[in-house]
Amino acid sequence: MDTQSILSSPAFHDTQHLQRFLKGLGHYAGALDGLLGPKTRAAAVRFESVSTGIANAFGSFDARSEREIFTLHPDAQRLCRGLLTALRANGLDARVLCGMRSYAQQNALYSQGRTKAGAVVTRATGGNSFHNFGVAFDIGLFSSGKYLQNADPYLDAARIGKHCGLECGAFWQSFSDPPHYQLLSLPPLSLIRKRFEAGFPLFQSSTQGDKT
Ligand SMILES: [Zn+2]
Repeated sequence: MDTQSILSSPAFHDTQHLQRFLKGLGHYAGALDGLLGPKTRAAAVRFESVSTGIANAFGSFDARSEREIFTLHPDAQRLCRGLLTALRANGLDARVLCGMRSYAQQNALYSQGRTKAGAVVTRATGGNSFHNFGVAFDIGLFSSGKYLQNADPYLDAARIGKHCGLECGAFWQSFSDPPHYQLLSLPPLSLIRKRFEAGFPLFQSSTQGDKT
């Protein structure tokens, strides 16, 4: 598995967003100043190296999925790779279409179907989605290379996702979101946001200190 440069990820074009993320993971100790200097670059390389270790241990996938998985919190990376492996073992061609989103990306998505053309796809503005902290991801299911829109295979996938230890948007009562997965038992979003913006760990990671 080749190391991906997270600096080329649109989610991290916002350097302060990248610094907050890397600081919370213990890779960065500098200021949250939004400047892409040597400390931030070195921290990104350390994070990428941990992510490459996870890919080597848990399996790697298509190029797009890899780009997205490399933007996630390491706990989410492990579970996401486990999910894709389990789905493929069950004949479901699953790819990750979206991992981390910066606040600006989230706001752009929120404007879709409101002030911009298209269908409404999110209820959350920047800072109000678990995607903004790297603990959620969306999958797409494909058949012979064609994207599947029908909800049924996503429900099949979500049942498998539950066994993989993930929370699946398919089972949400108020706003069903079948392609969406996130870490189980996350702290409230407002608390996660506060910790993220301060560069603190988002939660006590079950695998903290573990290199893979
Ligand atoms: Zn989602």
